Amino acid sequence: MGAGGARLGRVELTIVRDPVTRVPKIPGSSLAGVYRTYVAMAMHESHPNRKARGQPWPYYPHCAGLGQPRGDYLGHCAQPDCPVCTVFGFARGRDQAGGFAGLAAFTDAHVLLFPVPTRQGPRWITCPDALRLVGLEVQGVDQKDQKDQKDQKDQKDQNAVYLGSNQNTHLNLGWLLLPVKVCTQFKTIADSLRNLTTPDFTILDYVLDRLALVSDRLFAHIVNSNLEVRTSVAINPATGAAEEQALFSYEALPRGTVLAWEIITKNPGYFRIEGQVISAVSTPDQVHEKVKLAHPYLEHLGVGGMGTRGMGRLKVLFSDQSPSTQTVSCSASSTSATSSPSGSSAPSAGGMTASSSGTEQGGAP
Ligand SMILES: [Zn+2]
Repeated sequence: MGAGGARLGRVELTIVRDPVTRVPKIPGSSLAGVYRTYVAMAMHESHPNRKARGQPWPYYPHCAGLGQPRGDYLGHCAQPDCPVCTVFGFARGRDQAGGFAGLAAFTDAHVLLFPVPTRQGPRWITCPDALRLVGLEVQGVDQKDQKDQKDQKDQKDQNAVYLGSNQNTHLNLGWLLLPVKVCTQFKTIADSLRNLTTPDFTILDYVLDRLALVSDRLFAHIVNSNLEVRTSVAINPATGAAEEQALFSYEALPRGTVLAWEIITKNPGYFRIEGQVISAVSTPDQVHEKVKLAHPYLEHLGVGGMGTRGMGRLKVLFSDQSPSTQTVSCSASSTSATSSPSGSSAPSAGGMTASSSGTEQGGAP
């Protein structure tokens, strides 16, 4: 913010980006914090008179938050029967020492499908890197090393948009006009994505019918040039008027973005809290059940900043086992491309893998 007013062409509040791909993401640490708060809220609603250590110790706000006692805030209870403190961990033991890492771990939430305006209505773009998150290995779209491009044809393959059929020879994605290529196995990709979600969520069919596949490099480019940048003004709560020099801008994922993240749950049987067996949960499935208590809250209260503007609300579409790995080829030259489903990667010792994906609902309600 300059002294004489807002500067043009600069965004003050930027989204966190993946350092390698430059595609925006939600850090797993942010997700874990939001999940913890909402699980504590859910537990508080079902157990409003909860006691711990012989005194009233409501799950919310005490087992939510950062956990260091301060004023009226008691901090994390750190009890082996507390679903919040065992699933999400706590910062300290009873004697102010130790702590517990928690039974659930969260990966970053990555963009899986991203809505882009075209002249024929919105298209949801994806890329091999994004599809790998949900177990789809897509070949023939990306040359891994751009230095390896032998001829101009490789370059053209990278700059194309892949669709299930080509009604037009070109498609404009935002301000980019791209040649259309047909991927014969496109339906396999759409079907795999469809099978990830629960049957009661119907909007995704609309999305999957408008799927478009681009290279990883183009994906990052298109996402970053189609983020919403909004300008807002800070309001002084005392006067209700705009603060002087309080104009700011921020960027956001557009409404309808589909994100994917994984929740890894550990087996409580392998852990002890101050020598005591964890009694709040006893299996990885039970850990996941507690984590899922947050999902209705994500839909209404959202994640991230600008919550009062209705931003960041997520609808969780899928919350089950990890998808199996499948290989799809979009290479134009290969006509006998094989699709070979294989078993999902084995869970690590004492752990279970579960995933959830959701739509980021930017924009006003
Ligand atoms: Zn607790």
